[in-house]
Amino acid sequence: MQKLPRALQTVVDRLSKLPGVGPKSALRMGLTLLNWPEDQVRNLGHSIQTLRDSVCLCSQCGCPSDEEPCSICSDPSRREDLLCLVSDWDALLTIDEAGFYKGKFLVLGGLLSPLDGSQVHELNLERLKDRLDSGLVNELILALGTTREGEATESYIVNLVEKNFPHIHISRLAQGIPVGSELKYMDKETLKQSVNYRQSLSEK
Ligand SMILES: [Zn+2]
Repeated sequence: MQKLPRALQTVVDRLSKLPGVGPKSALRMGLTLLNWPEDQVRNLGHSIQTLRDSVCLCSQCGCPSDEEPCSICSDPSRREDLLCLVSDWDALLTIDEAGFYKGKFLVLGGLLSPLDGSQVHELNLERLKDRLDSGLVNELILALGTTREGEATESYIVNLVEKNFPHIHISRLAQGIPVGSELKYMDKETLKQSVNYRQSLSEK
């Protein structure tokens, strides 16, 4: 079997460590790079090289940023008393891009998953404790999703906050029927959550 040239094999091996990239697509990327004009490949290499140097993690919320603190944490029009806890930066982006949430964020850096070995020490709990310790936060909104890992992390955080910061109100995102959906197509668990988290419409 013919071997790949050593430099190409190295690129393929490194690219295939990226999420969602298998050896075949890594090889396709490597071959594409070989066909690119030289300056384009050098520019790509340079931008990857400077990524770690120029992007910092905001010390307040944990999201990647050009400046410290990031534009969300330094925005005076955002409410300091509302803190939304998300697992990852892309969850923060999704909520922020929707444009309705005017509080602050904190990125936990993952979810607890005992099965694949994600442990408590891998989460940014110190950053969370420091933030709650500041005395500025009145409500912590848990936006950790409804997966098993999200639920496990949520109950861990609830215990931690109730024990150490009993004055802080904890809430979670509502669960139930998505907007614009028909009831007859809902699964049992979604329906159950919708009944559990039903909203009162009467004044009484
Ligand atoms: Zn920030």
